[in-house]
Amino acid sequence: TVAIFGSINMDVIAYLDRLPKPGETLHGSGYKMGLGGKGANQAVAARKLGSEVRFIGRTGADSFGDAARAELTSYDVDLTHIRRDEGSATGIAIIKVGEGGQNMITVIAGANGAVDQSDAQAAKADLEQARVLLLQLEVPLKGALAAAKIVRGKGGTVILDPAPAPKEPFSADIIAAVDVVTPNESETAGLLGWQPATPDDALRAARELKSKGFRTALVKLGAKGVAFSGPTEEGFVPPFKVTAIDTVAAGDSFNGGLAVALDEGKSLAEAVRFAAASGALSTTKKGASAAAPTRAEIDAFLAA
Ligand code: ADP
Repeated sequence: TVAIFGSINMDVIAYLDRLPKPGETLHGSGYKMGLGGKGANQAVAARKLGSEVRFIGRTGADSFGDAARAELTSYDVDLTHIRRDEGSATGIAIIKVGEGGQNMITVIAGANGAVDQSDAQAAKADLEQARVLLLQLEVPLKGALAAAKIVRGKGGTVILDPAPAPKEPFSADIIAAVDVVTPNESETAGLLGWQPATPDDALRAARELKSKGFRTALVKLGAKGVAFSGPTEEGFVPPFKVTAIDTVAAGDSFNGGLAVALDEGKSLAEAVRFAAASGALSTTKKGASAAAPTRAEIDAFLAA
């Protein structure tokens, strides 16, 4: 089982020929509204790829919350641990997608900001069964760390996607609670103070993250591939060639894929390749949760 402790948003995505400049008004070619939030995207990605999932989070008591719940249900993600928070609005992300799938995102946390240790406690029995836990930084870390403790207490693996980028390096208690950290270029810069650009840089950054105390580090370079350094395996997975039209949530499809592969007992090198394929495939479709590939799609892609 894969457990996910994290955010739920309604995404409103506008598609444009290019991103606007401050003060400028542009006509977009269309828009899409749907389930987003890093937690929800990772939960949907892991479910679509075939793992049992247990998702812990909150929506507000509003129509966006109802829509988010309905969409989670449509992906067969169960709502047992999704609290309906009477005092908050559902989280929202306002997204613009421009040339080459580049994006600009504003997130308003709403109910995600209220997720805390009580949410982890309420889901304790399910967290104890999880082989892998996925964390991100769109809900307060205190609750996420409580969930991590429960999962690790039973021998499970904790994966932290340090996104959105942290403003400062992690404290020792956070590093100690995490097995695998998966920053992209700018998140790596937030953690290490320098930004990797090449495969060599990425591997060096992954090793440096390990020297800070993480057991395993993956450094994602978007369309340029991903480096990994773990306790016994290390390497670089070159990018899969795809035509990217929308990179929103590529990192979430990557992490969902990583969790599924580790849940299935794959080696680190195999798991990173599976994750990279999942991230790459998600860029060929529009939307966040909606763009995550299915197991059939990824199996066909990897076999080709
Ligand atoms: P984030 O969404 O966290 O910024 P990235 O942009 O680094 O994450 O993308 C996550 C992963 O998705 C990458 O490591 C890669 O495996 C895959 N990916 C993203 N964009 C592309 C692309 N244009 N071509 C191939 N793979 C991609």
